[in-house]
Formats: sequence, structure tokens, C-alpha cells
Amino acid sequence: MIPVEFRPTLRRDMYTGHAMSCLFCKIVEGSIPSTAVFQDELSYAFADISPKAPVHVLIVPREHIGSLREAGKDKPALLGHLLWAAAEIAREKKLDNGYRIVVNTGEDGGQTVEHLHLHLLGGRMLTWPPG
Ligand code: AMP
Ligand code: ZN
Repeated sequence: MIPVEFRPTLRRDMYTGHAMSCLFCKIVEGSIPSTAVFQDELSYAFADISPKAPVHVLIVPREHIGSLREAGKDKPALLGHLLWAAAEIAREKKLDNGYRIVVNTGEDGGQTVEHLHLHLLGGRMLTWPPG
């Protein structure tokens, strides 16, 4: 069962710095609406607004990290947690035939929102290589 008991929390530090300008910080904080799929104390997952597959979920850390490139030495556990959350959502969505996790990073990686996020894509056969 996916835990949904963690409501977006209004924290004083969310109104300063990155949260003022970062789209996904605003989604995590709740000031921009999203369709929640999963949430816990470290992560928040929501439906992509422009889905590229029948299942397209974004999994983000609650804390602002610009991209995988900016994930520091203290972040391995958090990164593992995000990957676990993606797998948990895939199980919940019954993507038993497979799925893909994508982490677009930087300009060459096609990243358009500068808050680390995992794409969970599934529900159809995905081609390889990506464009
Ligand atoms: P990327 O291009 O890897 O940085 O992925 C950013 C993703 O965020 C894209 O798939 C967008 O469709 C998605 N996106 C942008 N704005 C929103 C929003 N307000 N709610 C949900 N997903 C969004
Ligand atoms: Zn952010």
C-alpha cells in the first residue's frame, strides 16, 4: 500500500531561496497543484503534466537538489530511496511487464526542470535508444 499520509508541509525555509523560483519545490510545498501518487518524509511523486506513456510519474526529493550532478557525498541514501520509491510505485501500478526509470541530467541530458527528478515510464513498449 502506498503511503499517502504525508501531506505537503509548509515550512518557513520553503519560502526562501530555491522554493521561491523552483517549480518542483512549489509542487512539493503544495502551492502549485499536482496529482499525488506517492509521498513520504523524503520524497514526493506526482503525475507528469505531459505524459509520454500510459504511466508517467515524476519522483522528486522534498529537498531542493538541482540535478544528479549536484547530489553531494551525503546523498547516496536519498538517491537510493528515490529509486526504491519508483519501484514501489511501479509495483502499485502493476507494471509487471517492465518499465523505465529516466534521470535527465543537464543540457545534453535534456533536463528542463532544475530540481532532481526520476521519470517512471511504463504501460507500453518503450523503444531504445532514446532520441
Ligand atoms: P525533464 O525534461 O527531464 O526536466 O522533465 C521535466 C518534466 O516535468 C517534463 O516531463 C514535464 O512534462 C514535467 N512537468 C513540467 N511542469 C509540470 C507540472 N506543473 N506538473 C507536472 N509535471 C510537470
Ligand atoms: Zn526545487
